[in-house]
Amino acid sequence: MDIKKLVKKEVSSLRAYNAREIPCRIKLDANESPYGFNRALRVAAGISTNRYPDPEAGELKKVLAKDLGIRQDMLLQGNGSDELIYYLISTFGGPVLYPTPTFSMYGIIAQALGEKKIEIALDSELDLDIGKILPAIKKERPKLIFLSSPNNPTGNCFSTGRILEIIESSRGIVIVDEAYQPFSSEKGFLPLLKDYRNLVIMRTLSKIGLAALRLGYLIAAPEIIAEVNKVRLPFNVNSLSQAIAVSALREKKQLIAHIKAICSERDLLFRDMRKIEGLTLFPTEANFILFKVNDADRVYSALLKKGILVRNLSETVKDCLRVTVGTPAENKAFLKALRQAGI
Ligand SMILES: *Cc1c(COP(=O)(O)O)cnc(C)c1O
Repeated sequence: MDIKKLVKKEVSSLRAYNAREIPCRIKLDANESPYGFNRALRVAAGISTNRYPDPEAGELKKVLAKDLGIRQDMLLQGNGSDELIYYLISTFGGPVLYPTPTFSMYGIIAQALGEKKIEIALDSELDLDIGKILPAIKKERPKLIFLSSPNNPTGNCFSTGRILEIIESSRGIVIVDEAYQPFSSEKGFLPLLKDYRNLVIMRTLSKIGLAALRLGYLIAAPEIIAEVNKVRLPFNVNSLSQAIAVSALREKKQLIAHIKAICSERDLLFRDMRKIEGLTLFPTEANFILFKVNDADRVYSALLKKGILVRNLSETVKDCLRVTVGTPAENKAFLKALRQAGI
C-alpha cells in the first residue's frame, strides 16, 4: 500500500513546519520573552489530574475580559493562536488573503484545509499594498483576511487607515493578529471592535513570557465567537495552562515590567545595530528586529558558531535575519558576535 497516495494532495505537497531545536547558548530566534513566570507554576499542585480541564476556560476568560474591558462571550480560547487560525479557516473556509512576507501559518493551514490562498506582496515601505489588495477583495471575495500588525517578520505596524479600508471593503472577516501588540506604541484595534462587525482580533500569551502554555485568544462579536466555538475541540486548553495563565495574568505589574524592559532593550539594541556599517535595519514595533546583510547564510552561521541562534529568513526575505530581543547580557553578546562576523 502506498501511504503517500492516500494522503490528500494539499497535504502531501506541504512541508512539515520546521520547528526543530538547534543547540545554542543564546536563543534569539523565536520571538519568545527572555523573562518567564515560574512563580505561577505553584498553582500546578492544586490541579486534579484525573479531571478534564474546564471546557470553557471560565476563570481565564474572566481575568482576560476584565483586563480588556469586554464581555466574556467576546472571547475564544485556543491552544496557541495557531489553533485559532485553524478554527477560523475551518469555520469560514476560503479564499484566505494575506500579505507577504508574514506569519507562515496562515498559508500552511489554508493549504492543509484545501482552501485557496491569495498572497499579496507588501509595498516597498513594507506596508499593505492597498492598490492590489482592494481589487483582489472585489474580484476574489476572500472569506478571511489575516493581517499581522505588528507584522512578523518585518516588525512594523501596517497603517491604520489602510487596515480600515480593507475592513470596510471586505464582505468577509478581517483578522488583525496582534501577537506583538504589547510591544507596540500604537493603540491596536480593540477600541474599534464595536464599530466593525467583521473585525476579529487575535492575541497570544506566547510572546509575553508564556510560550510554554500554548494559549491564544480571539476577541470578536459574540455571533462570530459562537460560530467558531462550534469547531473548537472540547478540551483544547489543558488545566495546567489555564491555571498558570490565570496566575501569571494576575501578576500584572510583573507582566508590564517585563514588556517595558523588552521595549527599552529593543530601542537600545536598534541604536547599537544602526552603528554597524553595511547592515540595513527595519523599524520595529515588536520584540524583534529584522535586518539585512550581504550574505545572510554566512552571518547566520558565524553567529551560530558563537552559540547565538537567530532566525535565517533568507528563503522568504532576501538576505534578511531576524533577532529577538533578549536580556541585556544576551543582546550584548549578540552585538559582539555580529560585529565580529563582519557584514
Ligand atoms: C508567534 C506568532 C503567533 C503564534 O502564536 P501562538 O499563540 O504561539 O500559536 C501568531 N501570530 C503571529 C504573527 C506570530 O508571530
